[in-house]
Amino acid sequence: MSSNLMHPEKSPYILVLGMGGTIAGLASAAERPLEYAAGQVGVESLVSHIKSAIPKGVNLISQQLANINSRNLSEPLLSSLGERVYASLEDPAILGIVVTHGTDTIEETGIFLQLTCGRHANRLGKRVILTGAMIPSNAPGADGPSNLLDAVKWAATPLDNCPGGIYAVMDGRACLAMDLAKRHTTALNAPLQASPSSSAGLINPSWLSGVKAVQAAWTEDLPIPEGGEWPWVEILTSHAGARPETVSLWLDSEVKGLVLAGSGMGGFHDAWQAPLTLGVSKGIALVRTTRTGAGITYSDIPEKDPIGYLAAGSLTAPRARIALQLALNAEKQAKMMGKPLTWQDFFARIAVLPVIG
Ligand code: ASP
Repeated sequence: MSSNLMHPEKSPYILVLGMGGTIAGLASAAERPLEYAAGQVGVESLVSHIKSAIPKGVNLISQQLANINSRNLSEPLLSSLGERVYASLEDPAILGIVVTHGTDTIEETGIFLQLTCGRHANRLGKRVILTGAMIPSNAPGADGPSNLLDAVKWAATPLDNCPGGIYAVMDGRACLAMDLAKRHTTALNAPLQASPSSSAGLINPSWLSGVKAVQAAWTEDLPIPEGGEWPWVEILTSHAGARPETVSLWLDSEVKGLVLAGSGMGGFHDAWQAPLTLGVSKGIALVRTTRTGAGITYSDIPEKDPIGYLAAGSLTAPRARIALQLALNAEKQAKMMGKPLTWQDFFARIAVLPVIG
């Protein structure tokens, strides 16, 4: 195991990229596993703990990209991860990639990698697997080692019918990384709770056909923004007693987009209507989604969308935010190349991706 990527004698291999999280966390005392610091143990050490269980013929090489609590995930770090994954997929010595990550924002990283590297991975027939843990590495019942082992096996398994792409494996199950969403504060299956999934060892045929439908629909990756070039996008949640100031306070800022986590089918408080209309006239991109946690936000439902708004389809607010940032960045890059494409063109391709299950 090494953090040095130049190991031709070990080729071909699975690359394990460490980002931090509870999987690399340390609890202060075994009897208090919820009191811990995330991102303490190096990825090389995580990999060494599963070494004896790795199937014969599978070589691992690790590299530490960060060792953070993922609640502090930054956009420049997402750019570094995306660039590393994209370039590593092209390396003929690399069979697949595993990313160890904190679960708090694994939802954002999942959609980011799908939209920037998903087509690339599919075309090259390689899998990128996100994994993490809910129990810190030194606490009884730590789930990190088994999750990491499952992820490595999933990345290294001959493809058979399961295409290259961006997946996640945790708690013995797998799903597309873009379907990951942490929906419980402590449960072992928290990140996959809301996701239709397949057992990590056994592929469910209806899930697989859903995966293939997503892969067929995602025909072109979006560019990865330069670390300092991510457009500023905020999430605003509608609620009883919402005030116009929640929106108007942003109108003189550098904000380029707002994701509205609306109530029910993605509607928002009438008090927001006037400042949002002003926002559209100032060129702020608006996306509607729902705070319910499940279901689709449809265009023109329950009322016709004002010009300038887009409905987020099945995207949750954190995913819609990443998608809107990538769409705004893609519009900027298209303009520089003289192509008349807008953020709406890019966002619409994401919002219509098939939903599995
Ligand atoms: N706060 C941790 C993190 O996201 C939680 C986890 O990894 O489960 O880094």
